[in-house]
Amino acid sequence: MPVKTFRGGVHPRDCKQLSENAATVRLEAKGELTFLTNQHIGAPAKPVVKPGDRVLLGQMIAEAGGFVSAPVHSSVSGTVKSVSLKMTQSGDEAMAITVENDSEYEAVEGFGEPRDYSELTKDEIRAIIRDAGIVGMGGAGFPTAVKATVRDDSKIDYVICNGAECEPYITCDYRLMLEKPDDAVTGMKILLRLFENAAGVFGIENNKPAGIAVLSEKVAGSERMSVQPLKKKYPQGGERMLISAITGRKINSKMLPADAGCVVVNYSTLIAICDAVTRRIPLVRRVVTVTGDAVKDPSNFDVPIGINAAELIEAAGGFNCEPEKLIFGGPMMGAAVYTEDLPITKTSSCILALKRDETKGLEPTECIRCGKCLYACPEHLMPIELKNTADRRDYKAFEAAHGLECIGCGCCTYVCPARRRLSQTITMAKRYVLAEKKKGAAK
Ligand code: SF4
Ligand code: SF4
Repeated sequence: MPVKTFRGGVHPRDCKQLSENAATVRLEAKGELTFLTNQHIGAPAKPVVKPGDRVLLGQMIAEAGGFVSAPVHSSVSGTVKSVSLKMTQSGDEAMAITVENDSEYEAVEGFGEPRDYSELTKDEIRAIIRDAGIVGMGGAGFPTAVKATVRDDSKIDYVICNGAECEPYITCDYRLMLEKPDDAVTGMKILLRLFENAAGVFGIENNKPAGIAVLSEKVAGSERMSVQPLKKKYPQGGERMLISAITGRKINSKMLPADAGCVVVNYSTLIAICDAVTRRIPLVRRVVTVTGDAVKDPSNFDVPIGINAAELIEAAGGFNCEPEKLIFGGPMMGAAVYTEDLPITKTSSCILALKRDETKGLEPTECIRCGKCLYACPEHLMPIELKNTADRRDYKAFEAAHGLECIGCGCCTYVCPARRRLSQTITMAKRYVLAEKKKGAAK
Protein backbone atom coordinates (compact mmCIF):
# COMPACT_ATOMS: atom_id res chain seq x y z
CA MET A 1 0.00 0.00 0.00
CA PRO A 2 1.44 3.46 -0.88
CA VAL A 3 2.63 5.54 2.05
CA LYS A 4 0.53 8.68 2.59
CA THR A 5 1.23 12.00 4.28
CA PHE A 6 0.28 15.68 4.52
CA ARG A 7 1.96 18.86 3.25
CA GLY A 8 4.51 20.58 5.50
CA GLY A 9 5.93 19.22 8.75
CA VAL A 10 9.45 18.46 9.94
CA HIS A 11 11.75 15.46 10.38
CA PRO A 12 13.26 15.48 13.88
CA ARG A 13 15.41 12.51 14.96
CA ASP A 14 12.89 10.10 16.45
CA CYS A 15 15.18 8.66 19.18
CA LYS A 16 12.71 5.81 19.67
CA GLN A 17 15.50 3.21 19.73
CA LEU A 18 16.04 4.01 23.41
CA SER A 19 12.80 2.33 24.51
CA GLU A 20 11.09 0.72 21.50
CA ASN A 21 12.43 -2.75 22.30
CA ALA A 22 11.62 -2.55 26.01
CA ALA A 23 8.59 -4.79 26.61
CA THR A 24 5.94 -3.17 28.79
CA VAL A 25 6.40 -3.88 32.49
CA ARG A 26 3.43 -3.75 34.86
CA LEU A 27 4.08 -1.51 37.85
CA GLU A 28 1.99 -1.03 40.98
CA ALA A 29 2.10 2.11 43.11
CA LYS A 30 4.11 1.98 46.34
CA GLY A 31 3.05 5.37 47.63
CA GLU A 32 -0.22 7.30 47.62
CA LEU A 33 -1.99 8.12 44.36
CA THR A 34 -3.27 11.51 43.24
CA PHE A 35 -6.21 11.77 40.87
CA LEU A 36 -6.53 15.16 39.21
CA THR A 37 -10.07 16.20 38.28
CA ASN A 38 -8.95 17.97 35.09
CA GLN A 39 -7.34 15.09 33.20
CA HIS A 40 -9.43 15.92 30.15
CA ILE A 41 -10.60 18.81 27.97
CA GLY A 42 -13.84 20.33 29.26
CA ALA A 43 -15.37 20.87 32.67
CA PRO A 44 -13.36 19.38 35.56
CA ALA A 45 -14.86 16.30 37.22
CA LYS A 46 -16.57 16.83 40.59
CA PRO A 47 -15.29 14.77 43.56
CA VAL A 48 -17.92 12.47 45.07
CA VAL A 49 -15.77 11.14 47.92
CA LYS A 50 -14.41 12.80 51.06
CA PRO A 51 -11.37 12.27 53.31
CA GLY A 52 -11.66 9.05 55.29
CA ASP A 53 -13.85 7.24 52.71
CA ARG A 54 -12.74 3.76 51.68
CA VAL A 55 -12.64 3.40 47.88
CA LEU A 56 -12.35 0.33 45.67
CA LEU A 57 -10.42 -0.32 42.48
CA GLY A 58 -12.59 0.92 39.61
CA GLN A 59 -14.86 3.02 41.82
CA MET A 60 -15.91 6.42 40.45
CA ILE A 61 -14.42 9.05 42.75
CA ALA A 62 -15.28 12.13 40.70
CA GLU A 63 -18.28 12.50 38.39
CA ALA A 64 -18.34 14.24 35.01
CA GLY A 65 -18.77 18.00 35.46
CA GLY A 66 -20.81 18.50 32.28
CA PHE A 67 -21.42 17.10 28.79
CA VAL A 68 -17.83 17.76 27.71
CA SER A 69 -16.17 16.17 30.74
CA ALA A 70 -15.26 12.72 32.07
CA PRO A 71 -15.54 10.90 35.39
CA VAL A 72 -12.43 9.75 37.28
CA HIS A 73 -12.05 6.29 38.86
CA SER A 74 -9.72 5.00 41.54
CA SER A 75 -6.98 2.73 40.20
CA VAL A 76 -6.43 1.06 43.60
CA SER A 77 -8.37 0.25 46.74
CA GLY A 78 -7.60 2.32 49.80
CA THR A 79 -8.61 5.33 51.84
CA VAL A 80 -9.17 8.89 50.65
CA LYS A 81 -6.54 11.02 52.36
CA SER A 82 -7.50 14.42 50.99
CA VAL A 83 -9.58 16.30 48.45
CA SER A 84 -7.59 19.45 47.83
CA LEU A 85 -5.80 21.61 45.27
CA LYS A 86 -2.65 20.04 43.79
CA MET A 87 -0.12 21.24 41.26
CA THR A 88 -0.46 19.92 37.72
CA GLN A 89 2.24 19.50 35.07
CA SER A 90 1.26 22.85 33.51
CA GLY A 91 2.12 24.58 36.80
CA ASP A 92 -1.54 25.40 37.54
CA GLU A 93 -3.45 24.02 40.47
CA ALA A 94 -6.42 21.67 40.15
CA MET A 95 -8.70 19.87 42.57
CA ALA A 96 -7.36 16.39 43.24
CA ILE A 97 -8.27 13.33 45.27
CA THR A 98 -5.40 11.63 47.08
CA VAL A 99 -5.82 7.95 47.95
CA GLU A 100 -3.70 5.91 50.36
CA ASN A 101 -3.13 2.58 48.58
CA ASP A 102 -3.92 -0.46 50.78
CA SER A 103 -2.36 -2.77 48.13
CA GLU A 104 -5.36 -5.12 48.37
CA TYR A 105 -6.77 -4.15 44.94
CA GLU A 106 -10.30 -4.93 46.09
CA ALA A 107 -12.40 -4.05 43.06
CA VAL A 108 -15.98 -2.88 42.49
CA GLU A 109 -18.53 -5.56 41.59
CA GLY A 110 -18.27 -6.82 38.03
CA PHE A 111 -14.78 -5.33 37.43
CA GLY A 112 -13.04 -7.46 34.80
CA GLU A 113 -16.07 -9.66 34.04
CA PRO A 114 -16.51 -10.43 30.34
CA ARG A 115 -19.33 -8.81 28.32
CA ASP A 116 -20.38 -9.53 24.74
CA TYR A 117 -20.37 -6.21 22.87
CA SER A 118 -22.35 -7.64 19.96
CA GLU A 119 -25.45 -7.68 22.17
CA LEU A 120 -25.17 -4.01 23.14
CA THR A 121 -27.09 -1.18 21.51
CA LYS A 122 -25.35 1.96 20.24
CA ASP A 123 -26.68 3.95 23.20
CA GLU A 124 -25.38 1.33 25.63
CA ILE A 125 -21.92 1.37 24.04
CA ARG A 126 -21.76 5.18 24.20
CA ALA A 127 -22.92 5.16 27.84
CA ILE A 128 -20.22 2.60 28.77
CA ILE A 129 -17.50 4.68 27.09
CA ARG A 130 -18.76 7.82 28.87
CA ASP A 131 -19.12 6.17 32.29
CA ALA A 132 -15.67 4.57 32.00
CA GLY A 133 -14.10 8.05 31.82
CA ILE A 134 -12.36 7.36 28.51
CA VAL A 135 -10.60 10.34 26.93
CA GLY A 136 -8.08 10.78 24.13
CA MET A 137 -4.93 9.21 25.53
CA GLY A 138 -2.54 10.62 22.95
CA GLY A 139 -2.33 13.88 24.86
CA ALA A 140 -5.41 15.87 23.89
CA GLY A 141 -7.73 14.34 26.49
CA PHE A 142 -10.96 15.02 24.60
CA PRO A 143 -13.78 12.87 26.07
CA THR A 144 -14.22 9.91 23.69
CA ALA A 145 -17.98 9.57 24.26
CA VAL A 146 -18.44 13.14 22.99
CA LYS A 147 -16.31 12.35 19.92
CA ALA A 148 -18.38 9.24 19.28
CA THR A 149 -21.68 11.16 19.52
CA VAL A 150 -22.36 12.81 16.17
CA ARG A 151 -25.49 14.27 14.56
CA ASP A 152 -25.88 11.48 12.02
CA ASP A 153 -23.99 8.18 12.47
CA SER A 154 -24.58 7.25 8.84
CA LYS A 155 -22.53 10.25 7.62
CA ILE A 156 -19.32 8.96 9.24
CA ASP A 157 -17.36 7.08 6.63
CA TYR A 158 -13.98 6.81 8.39
CA VAL A 159 -13.04 5.76 11.91
CA ILE A 160 -9.33 6.53 12.00
CA CYS A 161 -7.03 5.05 14.63
CA ASN A 162 -4.14 7.39 15.30
CA GLY A 163 -1.19 5.02 15.46
CA ALA A 164 1.27 7.60 14.15
CA GLU A 165 2.98 8.29 17.49
CA CYS A 166 4.94 10.96 15.63
CA GLU A 167 6.50 12.70 18.66
CA PRO A 168 10.15 11.69 19.04
CA TYR A 169 11.08 9.32 21.92
CA ILE A 170 7.53 8.08 22.75
CA THR A 171 6.98 4.33 22.26
CA CYS A 172 3.98 3.42 24.44
CA ASP A 173 1.55 3.01 21.53
CA TYR A 174 4.14 1.09 19.53
CA ARG A 175 4.61 -1.41 22.36
CA LEU A 176 0.84 -1.83 22.56
CA MET A 177 0.72 -2.53 18.81
CA LEU A 178 3.04 -5.48 19.40
CA GLU A 179 1.58 -6.58 22.72
CA LYS A 180 -2.18 -5.92 22.45
CA PRO A 181 -3.19 -5.82 18.79
CA ASP A 182 -6.33 -7.90 19.37
CA ASP A 183 -7.69 -5.42 21.92
CA ALA A 184 -7.14 -2.53 19.52
CA VAL A 185 -8.92 -4.41 16.74
CA THR A 186 -11.82 -5.17 19.11
CA GLY A 187 -11.92 -1.47 20.10
CA MET A 188 -12.14 -0.57 16.41
CA LYS A 189 -14.91 -3.16 15.82
CA ILE A 190 -16.88 -1.65 18.70
CA LEU A 191 -16.64 1.84 17.16
CA LEU A 192 -17.59 0.45 13.74
CA ARG A 193 -20.82 -0.83 15.31
CA LEU A 194 -21.67 2.82 16.03
CA PHE A 195 -20.95 3.95 12.47
CA GLU A 196 -22.42 1.40 10.08
CA ASN A 197 -21.08 3.08 6.90
CA ALA A 198 -17.55 3.65 8.16
CA ALA A 199 -14.27 2.00 7.23
CA GLY A 200 -11.84 1.52 10.12
CA VAL A 201 -8.31 2.65 9.22
CA PHE A 202 -5.24 2.18 11.40
CA GLY A 203 -2.87 4.99 10.40
CA ILE A 204 0.68 4.02 11.42
CA GLU A 205 3.95 5.80 10.63
CA ASN A 206 6.37 3.75 8.55
CA ASN A 207 9.08 3.90 11.24
CA LYS A 208 7.07 1.11 12.94
CA PRO A 209 7.21 -1.70 10.37
CA ALA A 210 6.62 -4.36 13.04
CA GLY A 211 3.49 -2.53 14.22
CA ILE A 212 2.23 -2.25 10.64
CA ALA A 213 2.92 -5.97 10.06
CA VAL A 214 1.12 -7.14 13.23
CA LEU A 215 -1.97 -4.99 12.67
CA SER A 216 -2.08 -5.85 8.94
CA GLU A 217 -2.14 -9.54 9.82
CA LYS A 218 -4.93 -8.96 12.36
CA VAL A 219 -7.19 -7.13 9.89
CA ALA A 220 -6.36 -9.31 6.87
CA GLY A 221 -9.59 -10.48 5.27
CA SER A 222 -11.68 -7.82 7.00
CA GLU A 223 -14.01 -5.93 4.67
CA ARG A 224 -14.16 -2.89 6.90
CA MET A 225 -10.70 -2.56 8.45
CA SER A 226 -7.32 -1.76 6.93
CA VAL A 227 -3.87 -0.44 7.84
CA GLN A 228 -2.58 2.71 6.16
CA PRO A 229 1.20 3.27 6.40
CA LEU A 230 2.03 6.94 6.86
CA LYS A 231 5.27 8.77 6.16
CA LYS A 232 7.39 9.36 9.26
CA LYS A 233 6.96 13.06 9.71
CA TYR A 234 5.99 15.32 12.57
CA PRO A 235 3.09 16.17 13.29
CA GLN A 236 1.64 13.23 11.34
CA GLY A 237 -0.47 12.29 14.39
CA GLY A 238 -2.26 15.65 14.49
CA GLU A 239 -5.96 15.10 13.88
CA ARG A 240 -6.07 17.44 10.87
CA MET A 241 -2.91 15.91 9.38
CA LEU A 242 -4.22 12.36 9.77
CA ILE A 243 -7.53 13.22 8.13
CA SER A 244 -5.74 15.02 5.32
CA ALA A 245 -3.28 12.16 4.72
CA ILE A 246 -5.83 9.34 4.87
CA THR A 247 -8.92 10.90 3.25
CA GLY A 248 -7.60 13.96 1.41
CA ARG A 249 -10.21 16.03 3.30
CA LYS A 250 -9.44 19.25 5.17
CA ILE A 251 -10.82 20.56 8.45
CA ASN A 252 -10.16 23.85 10.21
CA SER A 253 -10.60 25.21 13.73
CA LYS A 254 -14.32 25.84 13.16
CA MET A 255 -14.98 22.22 12.17
CA LEU A 256 -15.03 18.89 13.94
CA PRO A 257 -13.63 15.73 12.33
CA ALA A 258 -17.25 14.57 12.03
CA ASP A 259 -17.89 17.48 9.64
CA ALA A 260 -15.46 15.71 7.30
CA GLY A 261 -17.12 12.32 7.94
CA CYS A 262 -14.37 11.19 10.33
CA VAL A 263 -13.95 10.06 13.92
CA VAL A 264 -10.31 9.93 15.07
CA VAL A 265 -9.16 7.99 18.15
CA ASN A 266 -5.73 7.28 19.56
CA TYR A 267 -4.37 3.70 19.61
CA SER A 268 -4.30 3.46 23.45
CA THR A 269 -7.83 4.84 23.53
CA LEU A 270 -9.05 1.93 21.37
CA ILE A 271 -7.64 -0.47 23.96
CA ALA A 272 -9.38 1.46 26.76
CA ILE A 273 -12.65 1.13 24.81
CA CYS A 274 -12.11 -2.61 24.52
CA ASP A 275 -11.41 -2.88 28.28
CA ALA A 276 -14.49 -0.86 29.22
CA VAL A 277 -16.93 -2.54 26.85
CA THR A 278 -15.76 -6.16 26.93
CA ARG A 279 -14.30 -6.39 30.49
CA ARG A 280 -16.16 -3.69 32.45
CA ILE A 281 -12.87 -1.98 33.33
CA PRO A 282 -12.96 1.83 33.43
CA LEU A 283 -9.90 3.86 32.46
CA VAL A 284 -7.65 3.22 35.48
CA ARG A 285 -4.32 2.30 33.89
CA ARG A 286 -2.18 3.37 30.96
CA VAL A 287 1.22 2.70 29.41
CA VAL A 288 3.86 5.41 29.90
CA THR A 289 7.31 5.62 28.26
CA VAL A 290 10.14 6.74 30.55
CA THR A 291 13.06 7.73 28.36
CA GLY A 292 15.80 10.17 27.43
CA ASP A 293 19.59 10.08 27.69
CA ALA A 294 19.44 10.99 31.40
CA VAL A 295 17.43 7.82 32.25
CA LYS A 296 19.42 4.70 33.19
CA ASP A 297 17.08 2.09 31.65
CA PRO A 298 14.54 3.64 29.27
CA SER A 299 11.34 1.60 29.67
CA ASN A 300 7.63 1.32 29.02
CA PHE A 301 5.46 0.84 32.10
CA ASP A 302 1.82 -0.15 32.48
CA VAL A 303 0.89 1.92 35.54
CA PRO A 304 -2.17 2.85 37.60
CA ILE A 305 -3.35 6.37 36.79
CA GLY A 306 -2.56 8.62 39.76
CA ILE A 307 0.83 7.02 40.53
CA ASN A 308 3.62 9.51 41.21
CA ALA A 309 5.96 10.03 38.24
CA ALA A 310 8.97 9.69 40.58
CA GLU A 311 8.04 6.01 41.06
CA LEU A 312 8.31 5.42 37.31
CA ILE A 313 11.70 7.10 37.12
CA GLU A 314 12.91 4.98 40.04
CA ALA A 315 11.65 1.82 38.31
CA ALA A 316 13.60 2.84 35.19
CA GLY A 317 16.80 2.79 37.26
CA GLY A 318 16.70 6.49 38.09
CA PHE A 319 18.76 9.20 36.41
CA ASN A 320 22.35 8.61 35.32
CA CYS A 321 23.01 12.34 35.86
CA GLU A 322 21.02 15.39 36.88
CA PRO A 323 18.83 16.11 33.82
CA GLU A 324 18.89 19.65 32.51
CA LYS A 325 15.41 19.17 31.11
CA LEU A 326 12.47 17.11 32.33
CA ILE A 327 9.42 16.95 30.08
CA PHE A 328 5.98 15.40 30.51
CA GLY A 329 5.14 14.27 26.98
CA GLY A 330 7.35 14.49 23.90
CA PRO A 331 9.98 17.10 23.09
CA MET A 332 7.79 18.88 20.52
CA MET A 333 4.51 19.39 22.39
CA GLY A 334 5.23 18.19 25.93
CA ALA A 335 5.34 20.38 29.03
CA ALA A 336 8.73 21.12 30.64
CA VAL A 337 8.44 20.57 34.40
CA TYR A 338 10.83 21.31 37.25
CA THR A 339 9.90 18.35 39.45
CA GLU A 340 9.07 14.69 39.01
CA ASP A 341 6.74 14.86 42.01
CA LEU A 342 3.63 14.92 39.79
CA PRO A 343 0.85 12.40 39.21
CA ILE A 344 0.43 10.38 36.03
CA THR A 345 -2.84 11.27 34.30
CA LYS A 346 -4.95 9.67 31.58
CA THR A 347 -2.99 11.67 28.98
CA SER A 348 0.57 11.10 30.28
CA SER A 349 2.27 9.19 27.48
CA CYS A 350 5.89 9.92 28.35
CA ILE A 351 8.37 11.20 30.91
CA LEU A 352 11.43 12.49 29.08
CA ALA A 353 14.65 13.34 30.93
CA LEU A 354 17.45 14.94 28.90
CA LYS A 355 21.04 15.50 29.98
CA ARG A 356 21.26 18.76 28.09
CA ASP A 357 18.73 21.47 27.46
CA GLU A 358 19.63 22.19 23.84
CA THR A 359 17.83 25.53 23.87
CA LYS A 360 19.61 26.80 26.99
CA GLY A 361 21.46 30.09 26.48
CA LEU A 362 20.44 30.36 22.80
CA GLU A 363 19.11 33.85 22.22
CA PRO A 364 16.86 34.63 19.24
CA THR A 365 18.33 36.80 16.50
CA GLU A 366 16.79 38.81 13.67
CA CYS A 367 14.71 37.00 11.04
CA ILE A 368 16.84 36.29 7.98
CA ARG A 369 13.77 35.76 5.78
CA CYS A 370 14.76 32.23 4.83
CA GLY A 371 11.11 31.12 4.60
CA LYS A 372 11.76 27.80 6.35
CA CYS A 373 8.92 28.36 8.84
CA LEU A 374 6.45 28.79 5.97
CA TYR A 375 7.37 25.48 4.37
CA ALA A 376 7.31 23.66 7.70
CA CYS A 377 3.89 24.86 8.87
CA PRO A 378 1.39 22.01 8.36
CA GLU A 379 -1.47 24.54 8.52
CA HIS A 380 0.06 26.58 5.67
CA LEU A 381 0.24 29.68 7.86
CA MET A 382 2.87 32.43 7.83
CA PRO A 383 4.46 31.98 11.26
CA ILE A 384 6.74 35.02 11.00
CA GLU A 385 3.77 37.24 10.10
CA LEU A 386 1.76 35.80 13.03
CA LYS A 387 4.64 36.42 15.42
CA ASN A 388 4.98 40.00 14.21
CA THR A 389 1.26 40.70 14.75
CA ALA A 390 1.42 39.03 18.18
CA ASP A 391 4.51 41.05 19.18
CA ARG A 392 2.63 44.24 18.19
CA ARG A 393 -0.43 42.97 20.09
CA ASP A 394 -2.40 43.60 16.93
CA TYR A 395 -4.86 40.79 17.53
CA LYS A 396 -7.16 41.83 14.67
CA ALA A 397 -4.29 41.38 12.24
CA PHE A 398 -3.39 38.11 14.04
CA GLU A 399 -6.88 36.75 13.42
CA ALA A 400 -6.93 38.07 9.85
CA ALA A 401 -3.71 36.11 9.23
CA HIS A 402 -5.56 32.96 10.46
CA GLY A 403 -3.68 32.78 13.76
CA LEU A 404 -6.51 30.76 15.29
CA GLU A 405 -5.72 27.92 12.89
CA CYS A 406 -2.34 27.35 14.57
CA ILE A 407 -2.22 23.90 16.18
CA GLY A 408 0.83 24.74 18.32
CA CYS A 409 2.89 21.97 16.76
CA GLY A 410 6.21 23.81 17.14
CA CYS A 411 7.44 23.02 13.60
CA CYS A 412 8.14 26.70 12.87
CA THR A 413 10.28 27.12 15.98
CA TYR A 414 12.06 23.83 15.26
CA VAL A 415 13.25 24.90 11.79
CA CYS A 416 14.00 28.56 12.48
CA PRO A 417 17.77 29.18 12.12
CA ALA A 418 17.33 32.49 13.97
CA ARG A 419 15.88 30.60 16.97
CA ARG A 420 12.86 32.86 17.03
CA ARG A 421 10.21 31.76 19.50
CA LEU A 422 7.51 31.57 16.87
CA SER A 423 5.27 28.80 18.13
CA GLN A 424 5.44 29.97 21.76
CA THR A 425 4.43 33.56 20.88
CA ILE A 426 1.70 32.46 18.46
CA THR A 427 0.24 30.03 21.00
CA MET A 428 0.14 32.76 23.68
CA ALA A 429 -1.59 35.15 21.27
CA LYS A 430 -4.09 32.48 20.27
CA ARG A 431 -4.89 31.77 23.93
CA TYR A 432 -5.39 35.48 24.56
CA VAL A 433 -7.74 35.91 21.57
CA LEU A 434 -9.78 32.83 22.54
CA ALA A 435 -10.02 34.00 26.17
CA GLU A 436 -11.21 37.44 25.01
CA LYS A 437 -13.81 35.83 22.77
CA LYS A 438 -15.02 33.68 25.68
CA LYS A 439 -15.30 36.76 27.91
CA GLY A 440 -17.25 38.56 25.16
CA ALA A 441 -19.62 35.62 24.75
CA ALA A 442 -20.24 35.48 28.49
CA LYS A 443 -21.29 39.18 28.68
S1 SF4 B 1 3.10 26.13 15.67
FE1 SF4 B 1 1.41 27.01 14.46
S2 SF4 B 1 2.36 28.47 13.09
FE2 SF4 B 1 4.00 27.14 13.88
S3 SF4 B 1 4.17 25.51 12.36
FE3 SF4 B 1 2.74 24.76 13.91
S4 SF4 B 1 0.71 25.35 13.14
FE4 SF4 B 1 2.21 26.55 11.96
S1 SF4 C 1 12.38 30.42 9.81
FE1 SF4 C 1 13.01 32.04 11.23
S2 SF4 C 1 14.54 33.21 10.09
FE2 SF4 C 1 13.44 31.95 8.59
S3 SF4 C 1 11.76 33.26 7.83
FE3 SF4 C 1 10.94 32.08 9.54
S4 SF4 C 1 11.24 33.42 11.32
FE4 SF4 C 1 12.59 34.19 9.71
